[in-house]
Amino acid sequence: MSGLLYLGDSYLRECESTVTKVNDSKYVILDQTVFYPKSGGQLNDTGVLERGDETFNVTYVGKYSGEISHEIDRQGLNAGDRVRCIIDWDRRYKMMRSHTAAHVLISVLCNKTNALVTGNELALEKSRFDFNLENFDRDLFMSCIDESNRLFKKDMPVQIYELPREEALKIPGVIKMAEALPPQVSKLRIVEIEGIDRQADAGTHVRSLREVGQIEFLKAENKGKNNRRVYYRLLQ
Ligand SMILES: [Zn+2]
Repeated sequence: MSGLLYLGDSYLRECESTVTKVNDSKYVILDQTVFYPKSGGQLNDTGVLERGDETFNVTYVGKYSGEISHEIDRQGLNAGDRVRCIIDWDRRYKMMRSHTAAHVLISVLCNKTNALVTGNELALEKSRFDFNLENFDRDLFMSCIDESNRLFKKDMPVQIYELPREEALKIPGVIKMAEALPPQVSKLRIVEIEGIDRQADAGTHVRSLREVGQIEFLKAENKGKNNRRVYYRLLQ
């Protein structure tokens, strides 16, 4: 996990890195990075790599065979180059707010019902998640939104730390999504919103619930028997 600076500090917007490899002249691997790769329902960061006064736009970031690949819009970077990595902070900060919002909303829903969340996707304009629930009750869901919004008015800390795997797996509900658990890791990164939610998670989050702001329900859809998809978004 070393070199993935966003895991330790979600608020890091820039870093100095060395290019270790360039694949097909546009997929850049760095010794360390602040760029978040698309994963766990969270969108990848975008931004720039600067070499001296030259700028390479980072258009996509993905994780392949354990490496973070930064796709750039033109050729020219080589192994050994020193670059300055700068992420698009507005986009990232919105993802951080959305991600923390999703943990709270899903947790509130799961506490009120026996719903099982089966998928989620955070996006800039609207986020969604899917869950299994026999009877979808719109009023019940609206009450989850209201309860979440009350929590987002509080200055409650979001804490991130690592726990040994065996210890982490004893926490009820720590694994919310199957993909959150890479099988070979000995330590799990835990995201804890005290008294609300604790789960193994590799995403970026805000430090306090108050930073989320408020959320708004958009719509609900049926996706087959017992399967519901709900859309919501951050207000401003
Ligand atoms: Zn998450």
